[in-house]
Amino acid sequence: MSKNQELGITESKEHNTGEWYAEVVQKAGLANYAPEGMSGFIITRPRGYALWESIQQNLDAKFKKTGVQNAYFPLFIPESYLEREKDIVEGFDPEVAWVTHGGHDELEERLAVRPTSESIIAPYMAQWVRSHRDLPLRVNQWASVVRWEATDTKPFFRTKEFLWQEGHTAHETHDDAWEETITRLDQYQSMYEDLLAIPVLRGQKPDHDKFPGAHTTTTVEALMPDGKSVQAGTSHHLGTSFAEAFDITYSDEDDEIQAAHTTSWGLSWRSLGALIMTHSDDQGLVLPPTIAPEQVVIVPIWQEDTQEEVLSYAEGVKKELEDAGIRVELDAREQHNPGFKFNEWELKGVPVRFEIGPYEVADEEITVVHRPDGESTKEDRDGIAEAVIDHFDEVYAKLYATAEENLAENVREADSREEILGTIGQHGGYVKTPWCGDESCEDVIKEPLSAEIVMCPFDDDEALDDDAVCSICGEQATQTAYFAKNY
Ligand code: AMP
Repeated sequence: MSKNQELGITESKEHNTGEWYAEVVQKAGLANYAPEGMSGFIITRPRGYALWESIQQNLDAKFKKTGVQNAYFPLFIPESYLEREKDIVEGFDPEVAWVTHGGHDELEERLAVRPTSESIIAPYMAQWVRSHRDLPLRVNQWASVVRWEATDTKPFFRTKEFLWQEGHTAHETHDDAWEETITRLDQYQSMYEDLLAIPVLRGQKPDHDKFPGAHTTTTVEALMPDGKSVQAGTSHHLGTSFAEAFDITYSDEDDEIQAAHTTSWGLSWRSLGALIMTHSDDQGLVLPPTIAPEQVVIVPIWQEDTQEEVLSYAEGVKKELEDAGIRVELDAREQHNPGFKFNEWELKGVPVRFEIGPYEVADEEITVVHRPDGESTKEDRDGIAEAVIDHFDEVYAKLYATAEENLAENVREADSREEILGTIGQHGGYVKTPWCGDESCEDVIKEPLSAEIVMCPFDDDEALDDDAVCSICGEQATQTAYFAKNY
């Protein structure tokens, strides 16, 4: 198939991942870069936003089924509010954008553009919670936040303003808050695995890399084909630090005043970055049928004398799919030939293509082509709306299997500093190794290689031998650490 140089992808995913990614994002119509002077911001086009809406719908339904209500808080946070929880100020200080003027007048108090909203939500939770009967309290907001990132930005993966959801909850006990933290992590994991066809690893961040003010930060991590890990979503057990700073207290059954235990959890459009990076190829975007704005594109193939019958057959197929609730597009444009259309829809990531020409009409069949690998089969016209569901499942399974294989092949063990450095340097991916918990042992890997501990699996998932020692310093190991380069 000839490649249209103007419209198609020219960079190689394998050899030039960064440039390739930027090309896919723009040429598949997902996003544009913001004007000069606003580096790190993006314009999300309808096709990109549609993907975000699918993620929103998937998570929103999960949240609502488990007791969460949506709410909305202001974009700005007064400086004095931000200062009430000291870790938040320190943690976010270098990344906060400030509003100093309203019109021509200088404000009495600077307003932070929210980098995260604990400091504006917690004071209101404090007002809403009186007794143990008000708990648990769960709110979520779909919003954007601003973090003036110093490191290189990349559409969706790391932007200065990003869309996300942030959930905030308050509970009676430490254990209740822990259960909440894990419920949200589970929901993130299932969104990745069941909607985006991306397997993830789960665990917790090392103490020195926790969310500012958190007791524990849990994370789901996804491995990209270029061997780098993506922090795909985080769920924080905040202990009582925010409750104490903002006075979220309740009277328990004995009328004693207690501090609540709070959580927060966020997932951003970085998930779209992971989706694009994981499945797409040198022809362009690849989307699982679960999230694709068009699950099927019908490309009719006609000569002048067959146009009418081919089109009417194709329209019948389209209607049958639509009636069955399938998202389908019939590309009947006359100014483009089928080859051009194949390329364009491949670039845009449509997972299943129907080819319908005079032979298909005569045989009462449809040629069905899978986007990820070009596999082509013939299906009977009769019952196509059911048969296509099997194709969706097959395409999803292919995408998931490739990602799963990449993950399985790229978790390696190492038991010395040299081996960790050598293994990540050569292969990328994760290196898992026993670790003493000391930040300085991470630094000796971070400095030469910019690989860091992206997570430590939960004890229940991967228990450590009693006599295990830290591969870097040789002291008693307390955790298994997964080192990786990351986005
Ligand atoms: P945090 O509040 O820092 O735990 O962030 C919540 C989630 O947002 C993280 O797990 C990331 O996946 C994502 N995230 C953090 N910073 C950015 C950014 N600059 N651009 C896009 N997503 C981000």
